[in-house]
Amino acid sequence: MVKAFASSTDLTEKEQTLEVLADGVYALTAEGDPNVGAVEGEDFLVCFEALATPVAARKWLGKLREYTDKPVRYLVLSHYHAVRVLGASAFDAEVIIAHDNTRGLIAERGEQDWVSELGRMPRLFDGPESIPGLTWPTLTFSDAVTIDLGGDRGALELRYLGRGHTEGDLVAWLPRRRILFAGDLVEAQAALYTGDAFHRDWSTSTLDAVAALGAEALVGGRGAVVHGRDAVDAAIGQTRHFLDVMLREVDAVRKGGGSLKEAFDAAHAALADDYGNWPIFEHCLPFDVARVWEELSGVQRPTIWTAERDREVWDQLQS
Ligand SMILES: [Zn+2]
Repeated sequence: MVKAFASSTDLTEKEQTLEVLADGVYALTAEGDPNVGAVEGEDFLVCFEALATPVAARKWLGKLREYTDKPVRYLVLSHYHAVRVLGASAFDAEVIIAHDNTRGLIAERGEQDWVSELGRMPRLFDGPESIPGLTWPTLTFSDAVTIDLGGDRGALELRYLGRGHTEGDLVAWLPRRRILFAGDLVEAQAALYTGDAFHRDWSTSTLDAVAALGAEALVGGRGAVVHGRDAVDAAIGQTRHFLDVMLREVDAVRKGGGSLKEAFDAAHAALADDYGNWPIFEHCLPFDVARVWEELSGVQRPTIWTAERDREVWDQLQS
């Protein structure tokens, strides 16, 4: 029997929690749904991630407005995925910031990704008709951008740490508070989506660079806020372990002349005990293994996911 496609039958609303991490630093988590955040400057706001639709984003802004009425000057997008960016118009931001590669990915595959993600995760697209079109960053960078928050608030550093979840992930780092918004480069008790990933870079140099920041609180792409150095290291370690296990299992099957389906079954068996109960595990794994296989086969850049390819891979592996 083929399992219900991706998260298409996950229709139960998740409980959202707004957490104040420090004076003027906010995170909204939602039991494994995509996280968002905000940081106050003296007379402006920096928002991190935009959710899937303007309707969803306006609900988040409504919660944030209980704490601050400052205007949104900067909207920071950690990467190009639809459920992170298509709510952007609700913020009325002066500047929309992303990595150079994210702009390229939106141009190259933003349309296909929108359709793919809508099919995989329909519940996240609250009021899909409110999306005015693709979201285009108005400021992009290659290595780093620093936002001076004014007063004695210090700086918010946006940094590119290498290829990982996509080829254009950025993180937002508050050195004065040692708080890191890691985007989908780190997940806290939520399964990894790696269908557009560069597993070998991500599991080595990129996560090394994330760990080297020395964060004492971390907001991952999904899952609860992580507090304390040990817990941050554990979240980074779990992310790395998930990637390492997939690489190991898929590589062994490939080298042994096995099939993609056999690689999927091996990775599933090796990961299920530790991660099988985490949100979106069953949803992600077919797409993840397909990309690991492709990467290990020497295909540099991920093949574009379309609604048709999603179904083909799903039917091939989750049956
Ligand atoms: Zn993503």
